[in-house]
Amino acid sequence: MVTLVPLPHPLPPWAGGVLISFEDVTALESAEAMRRDFVANVSHELRTPLTALMGFIETLRSSARDDPKARDRFLSIMEREASRMNRLVGDLLSLSRVEGEERRRPTTNVDMSVLLRGVLQTLEHTAQSSNVALIREGETGEIRVPGDPDQLTQVFTNLIENAIKYGGQGGEVRVSLSRIAQEPVLGAPAVRVDVLDLGEGIDPVHLPRLTERFYRVDTHRSREKGGTGLGLAIVKHIVARHRGRLRVESTPGEGSRFTIILPLN
Ligand code: ADP
Repeated sequence: MVTLVPLPHPLPPWAGGVLISFEDVTALESAEAMRRDFVANVSHELRTPLTALMGFIETLRSSARDDPKARDRFLSIMEREASRMNRLVGDLLSLSRVEGEERRRPTTNVDMSVLLRGVLQTLEHTAQSSNVALIREGETGEIRVPGDPDQLTQVFTNLIENAIKYGGQGGEVRVSLSRIAQEPVLGAPAVRVDVLDLGEGIDPVHLPRLTERFYRVDTHRSREKGGTGLGLAIVKHIVARHRGRLRVESTPGEGSRFTIILPLN
């Protein structure tokens, strides 16, 4: 934002309008640098699967044309790369939507018990195929919070999917719901959801940057597991829109706990 600075009196001979303070120019430059970084990151993320797709199209046209086995294998890889691009575009659209809505308070109410039950049902199959037990703990009765049901579903889907993806080797993921009579930072009654895994954990040096767009602890591993690097950035914006808090605690080799706190009113 540009702040207009009052002109000094008497006016110097060169003064004709307003002064733009030096810090504002710096802020504009850094916003512009962030935008450029983002565009560069998006281009890079899209180019990787595109290059693979183009390579395989070329191979299918030439050497693999008459080899049905090779053709099938290449088509499966192409399908995987295309769905990676699809996920990335989907996450980019979600991110842009939630950023645009951040200042608008949600006008609906959500029962957190029902919402979590739905998310856990949806992810049951993913958990089973990774040999992870999804365990629900804490309150199960109605707890209503002001919130956008689709966005809050996305928050818990992202956190529980991550817990399965990166913490799955611990064999279980626990999701617990509780009430807080007076949350000290929000200064209000709140609801708290913990997503806990017993997996690889995260080195503390990474924690402050975890919610940055495209930040990954291990890029290769994230890509291999179908990650876009945008999941926690989306979570951060949705939680901000709900005036809530996101907390991450993690011990390498022991597991991670992602906590969402949302005000009850
Ligand atoms: P991604 O699409 O790569 O999963 P996210 O924004 O959801 O992106 O997460 C950012 C990074 O945080 C991940 O790449 C991963 O390195 C790390 N991470 C997220 N959740 C966990 C977890 N439960 N355990 C260990 N690392 C995690």
